[in-house]
Amino acid sequence: MKSSGLSICIFCGSRKGSNPEFAETAIEIGRLIALEKWRLVYGAGDVGLMGEVARSASRHGGRIFGVIPKHLVEMEVAKYDLDNLLITETMHERKKLMFTNSDAVVALPGGFGTLDELFEIITWRQLGLHDKPIVLVNTSDYWSGLEEFLDSVVIAGFADVDSLGLFTIVSTPTDAIRVLRSHLC
Ligand code: AMP
Repeated sequence: MKSSGLSICIFCGSRKGSNPEFAETAIEIGRLIALEKWRLVYGAGDVGLMGEVARSASRHGGRIFGVIPKHLVEMEVAKYDLDNLLITETMHERKKLMFTNSDAVVALPGGFGTLDELFEIITWRQLGLHDKPIVLVNTSDYWSGLEEFLDSVVIAGFADVDSLGLFTIVSTPTDAIRVLRSHLC
């Protein structure tokens, strides 16, 4: 696969969260994706961390593909200055299009929507429906509680220990890019 043709889907909060490091991570990953000449795929909102990633990728000359359901166009302030903007009827179509148009998924800190998107992609990988890399950026230990909880899911016998290898948790956006390069380039 040509490295410059890669598309990276970012899941992240439609809010900025309480820690300024969350926005810094969003800005940095947007910048790095653009520098790699990869395309950003995301939920097309201009709010919270979503807006930060997109504005940063755009500032650094990156290409952006956004997908938003019509009922969220106003709520998430759809970002119209993208290279590609798709408006879907439903959330499910949005998630499907984000996934099918991406080579890998990166999750930044986020809320219930981010968790929903992330777990769908992890579950699909667990079921063998795809083999796309899934990387979580653990800014300020945001995902550490989840990591512990998932260990307890394995201990309780609801998932194989191998399932913990369906995703990779990294500390920084730079580490995320390194993992993606090692899997995709
Ligand atoms: P959040 O992490 O809750 O701020 O949401 C991040 C993104 O996920 C936003 O674009 C939301 O529109 C989206 N989202 C929220 N709830 C859901 C859901 N149930 N299914 C899929 N996406 C969602």
